[in-house]
Amino acid sequence: MRVEVGPDLDSFRTAARGLLARGVSPEQVLFTEEGSGQGSLLAPAVVPASAPVAGLSVPPAFLELAQKVACHRSPERWGLLYRVLWRLTHGERKLLEVESDADVYRVLTLAKGVQRDAHKMKAFVRFRRVEREGEEFFIAWHRPEHFIVRYVAPFFARRFPSMRWSILTPDASVSWDLEQLTYGPGVPRSQAPEGDALEEMWRTYYASTFNPARLNVRAMRAEMPKKHWATLPETRLIPELVRQAPQRTSRMVSPKLELSESSRFMPEHQDLASLAQAAQGCRACPLHERATRTVFGEGPAGARLMLVGEQPGDQEDRVGRPFIGPAGQLLDTVLAAVGLEREQLYVTNAVKHFGWVEGEEKQRLHAKPGRSEVLACKGWLDAEVAQVRPKMILCLGATAAQAFLGPGFRINLSRGQIFETPWAKAWMATFHPSALLRMPDERARAQARIHFEADLRRAADTLRALG
Ligand code: SF4
Repeated sequence: MRVEVGPDLDSFRTAARGLLARGVSPEQVLFTEEGSGQGSLLAPAVVPASAPVAGLSVPPAFLELAQKVACHRSPERWGLLYRVLWRLTHGERKLLEVESDADVYRVLTLAKGVQRDAHKMKAFVRFRRVEREGEEFFIAWHRPEHFIVRYVAPFFARRFPSMRWSILTPDASVSWDLEQLTYGPGVPRSQAPEGDALEEMWRTYYASTFNPARLNVRAMRAEMPKKHWATLPETRLIPELVRQAPQRTSRMVSPKLELSESSRFMPEHQDLASLAQAAQGCRACPLHERATRTVFGEGPAGARLMLVGEQPGDQEDRVGRPFIGPAGQLLDTVLAAVGLEREQLYVTNAVKHFGWVEGEEKQRLHAKPGRSEVLACKGWLDAEVAQVRPKMILCLGATAAQAFLGPGFRINLSRGQIFETPWAKAWMATFHPSALLRMPDERARAQARIHFEADLRRAADTLRALG
């Protein structure tokens, strides 16, 4: 009997249920895939949909494996899955524990192949920004080995919930419209948009974090297969970085601080107390003119986690301590929820003076610092990092992240991802808590809060893993 199934697990599940109900053994059935062009002299049999088979129960481990195996490109997968299912339901309930069994071994091998492919897709998808009717979209083209778009898409929806994106592959495509995932047909590479500013950001980031001391070309090629290089902007740098490796190794072993305007005000001894005192006299950018005082970072030298915000707010400017206003209170609540104690962290801002404009009721309204002010103040931030030497840096908001990685960094695109950087073993960016407080839409605010907490939880877990 020939049975035609769709390319997804649901279609197989319906067919398998019908076959089991009719007692059709694996030797009696040949599975083919709709539209696969697999010819046969046999006309496909229509397996009637069946009610659940009485007494039939399948171990959860099989369902988990079947989800992965269904994504594999191998045409044998449906027959293999049915054979294992048949055996599990005909007296071999513990079959999956026998890894030396030929069917079990094959199922595990296919599942591992899919898992590996999914891992590569999560690591190697690079979005490009496009604008349509004034709205921002992000599009990526990727060539997975297997049919994993539906399997991996929920990961990207969780990772990038607040941007509209599409991932195109030769077999299928998926789009996220901020609310739901929609699947479509495959798209050839020629229809995916070409480079933009994001590529530049990836290249800058990759060049700044590329660690020549650990250069291992074979391992790098194994981890980053050549077939993905066409869609990875950073790979264009690899030949040049490999050529420069010996020279760059010595640079990374003794890193230099970038010279910024504030360097002129640095004290001779750069312990945290001396730095904080010297920063009170900083005049490296115009922000000091309207602020009450410099708000320097606070926390123990040797803190394992450093939090970097944008700039002090109205209350911080009056009191002289970072993150004590409404945003600081929200931060404290979430830190406590994920098991991080603020007293053990070093908390600072990318810019140390409060920038503001006057509101209609003469209140002082936050004004985002410009790039020149961030660069001018970077000397203080670098000095704090050098003194604290945190295992992990968590940037709150785009301004803080861009102080490290440049203006191409986007919170929506790279929030929650852990990077290894020259400043700390682990580096991550997330929303600024004040951005959450400012969101007018209640639903968006609630969603952002969930992501903010998840990111901080991930930071806490990472910190624990770093030992
Ligand atoms: S914002 Fe930073 S660079 Fe500008 S004056 Fe204040 S401390 Fe100096």
